[in-house]
Amino acid sequence: MQRRSFLWLGLTLSALAAIRPASASDSFEFTLTDAEWRARLTPGQYAVLRQEETERAGSSPLDHEKRAGLYHCAGCDLPLFSSKAKYDSGTGWPSFWQPLSDAVATREDKGWLSIRTEVHCRRCGGHLGHVFDDGPPPTGLRYCMNGLALVFVPA
Ligand code: FE
Repeated sequence: MQRRSFLWLGLTLSALAAIRPASASDSFEFTLTDAEWRARLTPGQYAVLRQEETERAGSSPLDHEKRAGLYHCAGCDLPLFSSKAKYDSGTGWPSFWQPLSDAVATREDKGWLSIRTEVHCRRCGGHLGHVFDDGPPPTGLRYCMNGLALVFVPA
């Protein structure tokens, strides 16, 4: 009985520790005021990049983009992914098995029922999506990205 109480106390404390503003408290190399972000981005891009919304599966034309090129951050234009690491995950979101080097950063995203690894642009902090460990070789990773957070630049 007592062990169980301690377990619940522990879980409650970790849940409380996880509560923090999305990316507002982190400092990034590229920063804008909220008004500037709203002016710079479309409402859809703003919802994903700045409010961590997730676009509807299958809604992004980038999900089926197969040309060679680079995927840039829709917030600050930093190149994030190469078409060479893109694959069809069948999820309805653009998926990659690897980001470009020094392009993204991650943090634990603790929900009520799951812990996911959130992925954001390392330069502007814009939310991109999540990374899972059910991807293909050689990394075994699946970077599940919102197409709204990316801009495709053909080679
Ligand atoms: Fe960015």
